[in-house]
Amino acid sequence: MALVVQKYGGSSVADADGIKRVARRVVDTKKAGNDVVVIVSAMGDTTDDLLDLAGQVTPTPPPRELDMLLTAGERMSAALLAMATMQLGVQARSFTGSQAGVITTEQHGDARIIDITPSRITSALAEGDIAIIAGFQGVSQSTKDITTLGRGASDTTAVALAAAMGADVCEIYTDVDGVFTADPRIVPTARKIDAISYEEMLEMAASGAKVLHLRCVEYARRYGVTVHVRSSFSTKTGTWVTADPATLATAQRSTNSGVRGADEQGEQMEQAIISGVAHDRSEAKITVVGVPDKPGKAAAIFEALAAAEINLDMIVQNVSAAATGLTDVSFTLPKTDGKTAIKALEKAKADVGFDSLQYDDQIGKVSLIGAGMRSHPGVSARFFAALAATGVNIEMISTSEIRISVVTRAEDVDTAVRAVHTAFGLDSEQVEAVVYGGTGR
Ligand code: ASP
Ligand code: MG
Repeated sequence: MALVVQKYGGSSVADADGIKRVARRVVDTKKAGNDVVVIVSAMGDTTDDLLDLAGQVTPTPPPRELDMLLTAGERMSAALLAMATMQLGVQARSFTGSQAGVITTEQHGDARIIDITPSRITSALAEGDIAIIAGFQGVSQSTKDITTLGRGASDTTAVALAAAMGADVCEIYTDVDGVFTADPRIVPTARKIDAISYEEMLEMAASGAKVLHLRCVEYARRYGVTVHVRSSFSTKTGTWVTADPATLATAQRSTNSGVRGADEQGEQMEQAIISGVAHDRSEAKITVVGVPDKPGKAAAIFEALAAAEINLDMIVQNVSAAATGLTDVSFTLPKTDGKTAIKALEKAKADVGFDSLQYDDQIGKVSLIGAGMRSHPGVSARFFAALAATGVNIEMISTSEIRISVVTRAEDVDTAVRAVHTAFGLDSEQVEAVVYGGTGR
């Protein structure tokens, strides 16, 4: 008997029909002879709706109460799915994150999992039940208060439980058929990726690909959990996220297909170099203008931001103009941290001695990701040539061993993504991607 962990996202359980459809899938998995643990997100846009509601009551919802409110969304889905499952004649029991033993730090809205003690889940399974767990939440070890793990974190709940329980597979069900070479909403000819390494998936998630939560991928890599990202609206094989995608892809190819044409082989090689193009419109850019070009000034700027708990992404410092001895420092950060960052910098102004601050939230980031760029020259040249040909202006550049990212105007993101996707031969001949649900909110 295998242990299967399945996570269903908000668009898969958006309404009563969705919940009934998921219940049938869960029951089928159980009837195939598996132990089944299910993690659910809140129905449809429930989390956003609850956030809006809190905003109508107060402009500054106390974080503890906000977590109490938001966790109700996942709890609704879990209870309804348990009812729908029992209606099909199979025993099921729902649990909150806290009941499932998800123990976290105390930071409301962004708590980290520190331990999982799933004894109630283990006994529910032993009694033959399907265990259905509310995602995205836990309980703080120190304060005993209910916490949430950050937006989109039901994925993380699923992988953490799969790791703690030694599951055979962790299936993440969503509203697309898997991880694509670009967002199919922007590039309709994006291609489904059969298998991708943890490190590439981490870069994709960190660069704005929303299909998997970043921390879920970190968790999967740390504990070696194999993740299968697939659609709850179809039975197609999705994308396998694993340590060694080449082996997995070869194994699947030899079982799935016969002789491959030269063209197809060419495609495979290209895919091995580049895995995809990701984009992100959730960041803003701050420029600290007129920073004295002296040791310690960058440290003072970034210490002020660290003290305010701001997560930075790209950082660029210009060469100082020799005549003035001043330089500019630019960095990107989540838009949601913009106000806090500006306040923290204003406070440090006298100490650092800069002239002024510029805030720009009309930017976007486009990233090319692929483990093959380590060993293949010319990737950057092709990337920048593709952007140049469309006339998109580049405002910042940053790279890792397996990623190149640029900041552009927000309105240029779609054009840039399409140009780069085509330049690397990633377009498929037919439209493969089906977006089954979701409002994209
Ligand atoms: N419902 C939460 C959110 O919308 C968590 C999740 O969907 O994973 O962010
Ligand atoms: Mg989600």
